Amino acid sequence: MKIIGKLIVDGFQELLNLFYPNPCLLCQNTLQSQEELVCTACRFQLPETGQHRGEALVSGQAKFAGKIPVEFVYAYLYFTKKGKTQKLIHALKYRDCKEVGSLLGRWYGFQLKNDIRLHEQIDLIVGVPLHSAKLRQRGYNQSDWFAQGLSESLEIPWSDQALVRNQYTISQTGKDRIGRWQNVSHVFSVKNPDLVANKRILLVDDVLTTGATLEACTAALLAANSRSVGIITVAATR
Ligand SMILES: [Zn+2]
Repeated sequence: MKIIGKLIVDGFQELLNLFYPNPCLLCQNTLQSQEELVCTACRFQLPETGQHRGEALVSGQAKFAGKIPVEFVYAYLYFTKKGKTQKLIHALKYRDCKEVGSLLGRWYGFQLKNDIRLHEQIDLIVGVPLHSAKLRQRGYNQSDWFAQGLSESLEIPWSDQALVRNQYTISQTGKDRIGRWQNVSHVFSVKNPDLVANKRILLVDDVLTTGATLEACTAALLAANSRSVGIITVAATR
């Protein structure tokens, strides 16, 4: 009965595609029934960092060196202006296409699980939270969607109840290092200490830029006795 149900659903989807073709987010070609959001040709052209194959991310760990201890820094894709990654991030953040976050999380989680067995070093996945006003405006937290996708393929639980963002923006202009630190240290706090204490946390975000946001989240988690924090972002600059 289940199989017949699936056949009907698949058939219906095919019919729907005929009338309302589903375009690839990147090249606009019509997606095949087994493809989701991004066609296979575009998927294989994504600028992967190759970290799952042991390649180093140039802009990764160095951003946190001497500031805060992080176990690892991984990014799925390289970010370049007007490139494929920018299009995907734009869809994820500004075009209400939250599903692309989950899709990229599943794809990357699958690589990390098979190639470097990352799942053995993590207890809980936590997305960088949005300020409540921003969350209301966007309607969803893009990092949580990426966290969900990673959670699914790595088979590790995720939670959106661990951290809370108290301040809307992090402004760093004209601050020396200590000033900057005081500026970011109260931006995030741990909402649910029992959830993170003694846990090895995987902290996830959309793009790794200055690292200030991730640094502030890591500080809050370590202050709440998390055992360790590792970082994964959808994208990072070279
Ligand atoms: Zn495509």
